[in-house]
Amino acid sequence: MTDAPLKLFNSLTRSLEVFEPIHAGEARVYTCGPTVYNYPHIGNMRAYVFADVLGRTLSWKGYKLTHVINITDVGHLTDDADAGEDKMEKMAAERAQSIWDIAEHYKQAYWADVRALNIREPAQWTVATDFVPQMVEFAKGIADKHCYELGSGLYFDVSTVADYGRLARAVTEDGEGRIESVEGKRNAADFAIWRKTPAGETRQMEWDSPWGKGAPGWHLECSVMSGAVLGFPFDIHTGGIDHREIHHPNEIAQNQAHCCTNGLDDPKNSGARIWMHNNFLVERSGKMSKSSGEFLRLQLLIDKGYHPLAYRLMCLQAHYRSELEFSWEGLGAALTRLKRMVMGVGPLADVPPQPEAEHPKFAPVLAKFDEAMADDLNTPIALTALEEALAVKKVDGGIKRAVIEDMDAVLGLGLFNLTRADLRIRPKSATITEAEIETALARRKEARAAKDFAASDAIRDELAAQGVEVMDGDPLGWEWRL
Ligand code: AMP
Ligand code: ZN
Repeated sequence: MTDAPLKLFNSLTRSLEVFEPIHAGEARVYTCGPTVYNYPHIGNMRAYVFADVLGRTLSWKGYKLTHVINITDVGHLTDDADAGEDKMEKMAAERAQSIWDIAEHYKQAYWADVRALNIREPAQWTVATDFVPQMVEFAKGIADKHCYELGSGLYFDVSTVADYGRLARAVTEDGEGRIESVEGKRNAADFAIWRKTPAGETRQMEWDSPWGKGAPGWHLECSVMSGAVLGFPFDIHTGGIDHREIHHPNEIAQNQAHCCTNGLDDPKNSGARIWMHNNFLVERSGKMSKSSGEFLRLQLLIDKGYHPLAYRLMCLQAHYRSELEFSWEGLGAALTRLKRMVMGVGPLADVPPQPEAEHPKFAPVLAKFDEAMADDLNTPIALTALEEALAVKKVDGGIKRAVIEDMDAVLGLGLFNLTRADLRIRPKSATITEAEIETALARRKEARAAKDFAASDAIRDELAAQGVEVMDGDPLGWEWRL
């Protein structure tokens, strides 16, 4: 049951639009990927969980999906708006390592998080440094009409395209005021598409160009990689909501220059038909940042005993356009909910799914699920539909399994690959091993059999003191107290 028309919120028009593919039966999606100068924080990973759910939903709706995510290994400055240093170079200097080694290390760390969160592999990971010749070609194509050269690089003149900044809705004095001025810029919002290596210096990463040795600007990279792999216009471009303000307006301006220069009343002129943005994961103290020293990594959650998919579930519990506040209590609640779901699918573990068979008991929940996902990816409601399907009783197990698998293919929790034991991760700070816990529980069982309740209580209290909660009657009998 996948009949509900898919509506997605287009940041460019600030409205819900029914998805109409540009190429019949296909969906082509580009997601701005990480800058691999550091570990991603879990806020960054929210952006990829969102893009993954979007991709899975397009697949559920029957479109042949081509998803591209880039890896930025050059050109992203410490300030999105053309100021500061290259993030990669800065980290390499701090660590006294080569940029290539830094990029490789953090790319692998990012991919580990991608796998841990059940984010599907895109059709292609485009790595910025693999596309530099195409970037130079793209820049050459727009240089005469849209750019001007300064000592520090080739700059894009935003007054040469119609509707600059429409995506941000913020070409106000405020918006421009944030942009650090570069001597000689024609407009405050103009940005470098090629950054020249200063005379007398050598950068670790630099390439020849008609404007001298240097490196591409970050915005140029995404225009080139998305266009090169997906072809302009493609269907959907995604990123975090911060990209709506500077990075994506600049990509759009370049795409207009490259394709047509026309205005944005026709979204196709922006290079993509739909621009989608996830809202931020925030900490009570404010926005999360990996540039500011300490930050929450997925590995930290795991070290504390939280399964990474509890974090995925936490993301799904909020609509992607809402801000989501991170808390350990919230993560704990998501883990408990995930455990219930995993227990719910437990009895179906060995039942062969019957995808072709239907059962009237599932029709309403399937319709609810489909309508929720079609309504701009309303995962909070879709999750309740999944739980309602799990609660359906007295039906053929094979049919039930097929229904749950279908829904889970969209939500990506991988319920059939998880056991309750998988979700019980030993916190790094634990002072006791699983084997010692099992031994203590065996002693407790003997004490209870001998009706020695004092001894039995003492064992329970000792375990509690070591962060282990004993649960009478539960088949597994104990949990880490997180
Ligand atoms: P970066 O590696 O800094 O380019 O960021 C990678 C992605 O994470 C981008 O799409 C950002 O917009 C997104 N992002 C950054 N911080 C957050 C956050 N706190 N919550 C959600 N998404 C974020
Ligand atoms: Zn980008």
